[in-house]
Amino acid sequence: MGTAVAQLTEVRNHLSNVEAPCFDTLALHAGAVADPTTGALLTPIYQTTTYRQEAVGKDKGFTYSRSANPTVSALERRLAALEGAEHCTCYATGLAATTALCMALLRAGDHAVVSQAVYGGTVRLFNQVLAPFGVTADFVDTSDESALRSAVTAKPTRFVFIETPANPTLKLTDIYAAAKIAHEAGALLVVDNTLLTPALQRPLELQADIVLHSTTKFIEGHNATVGGALITLDTELHERFSFIRNAIGAIQSPFPAWLTLQGVKTVGLRMAQHSENALQVARFLETHPRVTKLLYPGLESFPQFELAGRQQSAGGALIAFEVEGGVDAGIRLMNSVRLCALAENLGAAETLITHPASMTHADVPAAQRQAAGITDGLVRLSVGLEDPVDIIRDLSQALVQTKGVA
Ligand code: PLP
Repeated sequence: MGTAVAQLTEVRNHLSNVEAPCFDTLALHAGAVADPTTGALLTPIYQTTTYRQEAVGKDKGFTYSRSANPTVSALERRLAALEGAEHCTCYATGLAATTALCMALLRAGDHAVVSQAVYGGTVRLFNQVLAPFGVTADFVDTSDESALRSAVTAKPTRFVFIETPANPTLKLTDIYAAAKIAHEAGALLVVDNTLLTPALQRPLELQADIVLHSTTKFIEGHNATVGGALITLDTELHERFSFIRNAIGAIQSPFPAWLTLQGVKTVGLRMAQHSENALQVARFLETHPRVTKLLYPGLESFPQFELAGRQQSAGGALIAFEVEGGVDAGIRLMNSVRLCALAENLGAAETLITHPASMTHADVPAAQRQAAGITDGLVRLSVGLEDPVDIIRDLSQALVQTKGVA
């Protein structure tokens, strides 16, 4: 993957063409505002709804915290800088960001193309919330370029929404190719970059138009907040997102924004260590006799290993696998772990293990789950920052418990 890093760095340097600070420096400093009265180093938590105005029509850029808040704005400047963008709007959750995206871009009768394998809540939003408003979404295997091309040309398409790697199958979509196909059809490309963060993948440099994050995951990184973000280089799109966010009341609160400002400082270090730990755990699982299937983008056995090397700079934290004995054995494994936590979330310092079919993707219709490769026996592991020796020990004892499960 060293080549991918070199390629991305080259593109980045070419694009910026200035001596911009490096990623880890931006993660610490971009957007920060020192308190003018005390000199406090950290951006304060501006826990206020309201701002005194100097005169009618004259304010300091803030009027009411549903429209904008200085702590949230500091986080927005930092996330925009990390994705190499101009603009960012932060939301109460990742799904609030997806909702704002759809409300800003879609009208009754409009059509969107969405990756077949995406976070279950995204599918539920399109199928159960937006469909009654007359918006249609086609769920397509976006890793298949001809399938994507047919989907965007079959009907006028407002945007293509991809998640790469996809949660939980880790299937990749070629961002550059998807952007080309979307743009030729007059559609925008939106990339949910939650699973890798800009530390490992920078979709805007690969011609995507909008990056979406659930900052709940690796961006904040400590299982302490929920939040979301929409990031773009396009000023007009940004103004629409800001308008919608104010109109529907979906902005993030100052305290989670402040916690996210602290968490994101170490995103580069954490993503490198998550990836290193996940690689060791994946290597252990790959050779374990009880494991029948294993998917990890950093392993040579991964079907899209070459693409992973081209567009991401490491494998990330997520591993998907199946255990001999199918669903029952997978459930026995998840009930037997001690260090790893059985939980709905992913993307934090603690290792989390999840059963997508009954947890994160329970609201995705069974047929759609099967088509997307989310089998009932699939186990998702979000490898944390514990010593990998301990994670492997825990999985090893849990795998022993699955013996004899039919
Ligand atoms: N995108 C991805 C890839 C996710 O995994 C999730 C949540 O798990 C979301 C979006 C939604 O984010 P949130 O839970 O912050 O609403």
